[in-house]
Amino acid sequence: MIDHSVRSRARGTLLGLACGDALGRPVEFRTSAGIESEHGRVTEMLGHGTHDRPPGTITDDTEMALCIARSLVERGGFDGADVARRFVGWYESGPFDIGLMTADSLAQVREGVAWTDAGRKAWEGRTEGSNAGNGSVMRCAPYALAYLDRPGVLAEVSRASSEITHADPRCTAGCALLNEVVRRLVCGESDPDSVVGDALTLVDGSGAVPDELWTRVAGLPEETDTETLGYSGYVLATLESGLYHGLSADSFEEAVVEAVNHGDDADTVGAVTGAVAGARFGLDAVPERWRDELAERGELRRLADELLELAPAED
Ligand SMILES: [Mg+2]
Repeated sequence: MIDHSVRSRARGTLLGLACGDALGRPVEFRTSAGIESEHGRVTEMLGHGTHDRPPGTITDDTEMALCIARSLVERGGFDGADVARRFVGWYESGPFDIGLMTADSLAQVREGVAWTDAGRKAWEGRTEGSNAGNGSVMRCAPYALAYLDRPGVLAEVSRASSEITHADPRCTAGCALLNEVVRRLVCGESDPDSVVGDALTLVDGSGAVPDELWTRVAGLPEETDTETLGYSGYVLATLESGLYHGLSADSFEEAVVEAVNHGDDADTVGAVTGAVAGARFGLDAVPERWRDELAERGELRRLADELLELAPAED
């Protein structure tokens, strides 16, 4: 039997990711000053705005997390070829929001390049400054639920899944780190000040963690200069702000509202913050008025439950 509070935190992870994504979507690419002058403070699901969509519309962050979660449930665990195939299916549907590295890599898979090589090829074709986006950390949380009792496998699978589109070591280690944080929170680790340090130590034991990742996240959330937090599409900026807001706020709502109102890559910083805060506070802390706006809420909840069923494997 899965503990009720674990189930609530697992559901909170996926619904939290989706709510952060949808709350941030209308103000993606905006400045915090621009958001303030137009909206005051964004606390409700807004319509129109960036990408001009109805309130509660999810973007690539949640769409790709759904591809991963559905694949895990249907395949009974990580199947990279199947995840890549689902990503390509989504790519071919003509999404209104897709990252450059994701589009490059999925175009390669579509042309017949193996899923294990496509992300690396796309990465090799890019220069520093455009080679380490947040497109894999935004979507990776479902793995933490499926591998809740297997941290070693979780780190490995998180890295491999990132490589489908984001092969940079900052992205692969970033996914392993974020998922280990989410895993610990869903399992019930209650001290937000030690979770990042403990997760870093574990992830470092399973493969290299780039120095810059250590430097930027090791002291989170306590020893953080909030003036220097980044909110761009750079993977380490998104990770540090997502972890900071997710772990420092007193409630789910406060975490996501704080994150999204900085603008910039608001949907993805919102998604990462929402996954962390949802894993920390559980489903009941995710405001019902936000969840009710999500067309995908029933499926996300069901997938969270089904992912947990995969978790308690003998290993
Ligand atoms: Mg997005």
